[in-house]
Amino acid sequence: MTKGKINVSVDNIFPLIKKFLYSDHEIFLRELISNASDATLKLKHLHKLGEAKIDYGSPKIEVKIDKKAGKLHVIDQGLGMTKEEVEKYINEVAFSGAEEFLDQYKDKLEDSGIIGHFGLGFYSAFMVSEKVEIKTKSYKNEPAVHWSCDGSPEFSLEECDKQDRGTEIILHLDKDSKEFLEETRIKTLLNKYNKFMPVPIKFGTKVETLPLPEGAAKDAKPETKTVDNIINNTNPAWTIPPAELKDEDYKAFYRELYPMQFEAPLFQIHLNVDYPFNLTGILYFPKLNNELNLQKDRIQLYQNQVFVTDNVEGIVPEFLTMLRGVIDSPDIPLNVSRSYLQADGAVKKISSYISRKVADKLQAMFKEDRSAFENKWNDIKIVIEYGMLSDDKFNEKADKFALYPTVAEDYFTLEEFKNKVKDHQTDKNDKLVLLYASNVEEQHGYIEQAKIKGYEVLLLDSPIVSHVIQKLEASNEKLSFVRIDSDHIDNLIKKDDTVISKLSDDEKTNFEALLKKQISEDQYAVQLEAMDSSAPPFLITQPEFMRRMKEMQQTGGGGGMFGMGNLPEMYNLVVNVNHELIGKILSTKTADKQQRLIKQGVDLARLSQGLLKGEELTGFISRSYELIK
Ligand code: ADP
Ligand code: MG
Repeated sequence: MTKGKINVSVDNIFPLIKKFLYSDHEIFLRELISNASDATLKLKHLHKLGEAKIDYGSPKIEVKIDKKAGKLHVIDQGLGMTKEEVEKYINEVAFSGAEEFLDQYKDKLEDSGIIGHFGLGFYSAFMVSEKVEIKTKSYKNEPAVHWSCDGSPEFSLEECDKQDRGTEIILHLDKDSKEFLEETRIKTLLNKYNKFMPVPIKFGTKVETLPLPEGAAKDAKPETKTVDNIINNTNPAWTIPPAELKDEDYKAFYRELYPMQFEAPLFQIHLNVDYPFNLTGILYFPKLNNELNLQKDRIQLYQNQVFVTDNVEGIVPEFLTMLRGVIDSPDIPLNVSRSYLQADGAVKKISSYISRKVADKLQAMFKEDRSAFENKWNDIKIVIEYGMLSDDKFNEKADKFALYPTVAEDYFTLEEFKNKVKDHQTDKNDKLVLLYASNVEEQHGYIEQAKIKGYEVLLLDSPIVSHVIQKLEASNEKLSFVRIDSDHIDNLIKKDDTVISKLSDDEKTNFEALLKKQISEDQYAVQLEAMDSSAPPFLITQPEFMRRMKEMQQTGGGGGMFGMGNLPEMYNLVVNVNHELIGKILSTKTADKQQRLIKQGVDLARLSQGLLKGEELTGFISRSYELIK
């Protein structure tokens, strides 16, 4: 038997390992299973090359709880280790790896991002154990060995009688780690980290009911059989070539990834590159409607089929973090901080590759079946718009497939739409004015006014669209977007044909004075306009600029020029002096009745903007009943 001292410069590395992020203690199991899987795949490789003259069989990894003895076993049928290899890989290599890792880790405790996910390897077993044993037999014809270490730098190493090829790691769990003797705890961990690992992992057994043989009697009892409980799918969809997968396979894999998601994804993008970096994965577009923040069921990051994290910030472009799915890459450095990760050249390339692939896929879908793409638009627009705002390269490509639906549900690209309306909707200053609504129901009256003029109205209702149109205007000074209720229609698209006022200047002044008795100036800015007599007499509008800035402020960024304070709501009261009612009010004899008519008129305008509420609405309704009595 060999007794030895692990050759380290810091004697207190074990206490350090124990202190290592408490919440991350659970990763020891992933590390041990990864090693078992590596050992199995290495043997498979050697076998294929003809270098290991063995019966490879169908090896699996087993995780076993021995509750009575307080032990947890991880057993593999991989290539095993000889005595020399244990000395080299466990006592020297693994240990120096752990030491190096902790050294690096010490000053970065505050950075709880991705760091800590990888790197500690075999020695992470000491985070949860008072003693760790290894029993291992190499595929080479050499005696099995038993290594044992109680958490001090001293270890023992001796021959033992293990018969089968492979390695068994035995953890004597310490008193703070008894949770890992619970079956449900281990099950949860296996499901989180090892669900898609390439070697079958057995955890206990289960009873399977066999199908009844053909022609069996009606009351025959089906036979049952006890089989290994294999917890993983060794061939997840992302590892299969895209050409071999059907849409159903992708959908089935989505359900496997997110068992609690009942709604099927809209479509998916299979990522698959091996140069200049290695990356596979599947990104799903879920139905997003107008949701902005989705915290659960996020994209999962794997390294060679081992789960690492579901925080892919910095690796996947930000606008795509709203998607679901997996990415798997051995080329993402993981034991570094987030800020380092974001600056890393390889990671940047990965991120821009993903962005490009998504843009190409959207473009192809648009080309292949435009109407199907149009049908999906409302469920995916938020991702695309977010991409247009945050990713310049994506923005360039999005020109070709970003859609602008009209209130009549026709879908155009911006270019198409501009061409369609340019003759009729260019104003006298040569600006092309694109009218839009944000809600067909609430802005119905305003949309009708535009229709009378023969204008097209877009329906732009995503929560971030104000940022998008701001950006589009910034890159094209001859283009302007105005919401349909931001002024009266003749002002939205100013043409040369001025309507002649039916009221004299004196009459206008008179009317304004009457109006001021009813409404205060800080409530509405009054605007007397000569419009078509068919246009409404009173109209409440909300100027585009202030409203848009306010919206941008609410969804982040953009409105920053106003500081953090909340912007006020601003409304105008437009009076159409050419409407019959205005003339009638002016010629009404009693001041009392004049005021009643004005109040009723203004309230109707407020009602149509959804601004009449509470006590004022109640008052308006009882007055209206009086009128029709
Ligand atoms: P890494 O896996 O990154 O190499 P570890 O600390 O996890 O680092 O493991 C150190 C080394 O110990 C491995 O590279 C391998 O040579 C050896 N090893 C660990 N576990 C096993 C195992 N189950 N079977 C065979 N070799 C193992
Ligand atoms: Mg390892």
